[in-house]
Amino acid sequence: MTKLPNPTALKGRTTREIIDDSIAGGVDCAFTESVALKPYIEKKIATLKVKGRLSVDPLEVYESKYTTHVKENGGSWFDAKKRMDETGGFFNPKTQKISLKLRTARVESAVHEGIHLLAHEQLRKTFGSALDEGLTAYFTDVILDEQGLKPGEAYPDPKGAAAAVVSFAGLPMVARAYFLGEVSPLLNGLLAKLGNPAFTAWRSAMAENRWNDAAKLLTPAR
Ligand SMILES: [Zn+2]
Repeated sequence: MTKLPNPTALKGRTTREIIDDSIAGGVDCAFTESVALKPYIEKKIATLKVKGRLSVDPLEVYESKYTTHVKENGGSWFDAKKRMDETGGFFNPKTQKISLKLRTARVESAVHEGIHLLAHEQLRKTFGSALDEGLTAYFTDVILDEQGLKPGEAYPDPKGAAAAVVSFAGLPMVARAYFLGEVSPLLNGLLAKLGNPAFTAWRSAMAENRWNDAAKLLTPAR
């Protein structure tokens, strides 16, 4: 990851700073300034903006939106309640809206949910939510790093497992799968390089949150 020579989008901000609605334009600008992600997001960000889709909501509004979102995806009120405390925000793919929790959400949360907005649903459908969250945290760090900000703290373990996939398959192939939904080259690449048994073992490790096992399977033996 590389810092841009003159980043302006999040100037004066810090990764862990608590935010309000005014962050949205900065996130859009950070995406526009991105050199590392440009080939994969350039077309989308021409029309898909965080500004107008992001709101920093008071707790009761956030809770209501989040509960609706979880229920719409087959979860229960109890699931929503349990997960709600662990998150500072969420992206609802159905409404294409980002809701962040007032006095809790940070710069990192806004960039993270903005990355979700730019993601292609095919990645999650093919590889599951663990790799999706891990890569979202990974690409959040790419943006933060370009802007000269510290890495984020969300999803450290899935992020590590996702970073192992990036090292193994290369950023372009992973980014094309994540942002453009071109999952076949990544899927076939992993399968060809690992072989069927190791590939199956990797998928299981990811699905069962065994992050070290997953990363180890992608690390060539020396
Ligand atoms: Zn996320």
